[in-house]
Amino acid sequence: MVDPDDIQGTSAEGISSGGTGAGGTGAGSTGAKGTEARRINPGVPPSGPGCVECAADGGWWVHLRRCARCGHIGCCDSSPSKHATAHFHVSGHPVICSYEPGEDWFYDYTTGGTFDGPELAPPTSHPADQPAPGPKGRVPLDWRAQLSG
Ligand SMILES: [Zn+2]
Ligand SMILES: [Zn+2]
Repeated sequence: MVDPDDIQGTSAEGISSGGTGAGGTGAGSTGAKGTEARRINPGVPPSGPGCVECAADGGWWVHLRRCARCGHIGCCDSSPSKHATAHFHVSGHPVICSYEPGEDWFYDYTTGGTFDGPELAPPTSHPADQPAPGPKGRVPLDWRAQLSG
């Protein structure tokens, strides 16, 4: 586990070994990922353990999805409010990935297809003690009937 802050704090400034000014080993920028970076930002941690809008509304969800660009956590299209898709429409962020334990697929709204994406900043799923549907205590007893209705 590597904390993103540690990565930023790691610099070569403290290393002075009578250098010859050879230019160091700075990582060159690869321009090839330019467009991908607008869709996926692996360094952004998730917004929290549950759907952002459901937490504000007192709602509940079936499964959680994570925006691969800004870390927004929203609920899936099987949920009553479909906040993950709503986030795509308001933000234009086209890629989500699963926020369920054991799932690592990505989905592109613009193509309608799933694909394997990069490793994102942890955590990559909601807490294991949080049930699905969730959150605990807010899921109606007849949630299956509500969804099918
Ligand atoms: Zn939601
Ligand atoms: Zn987003």
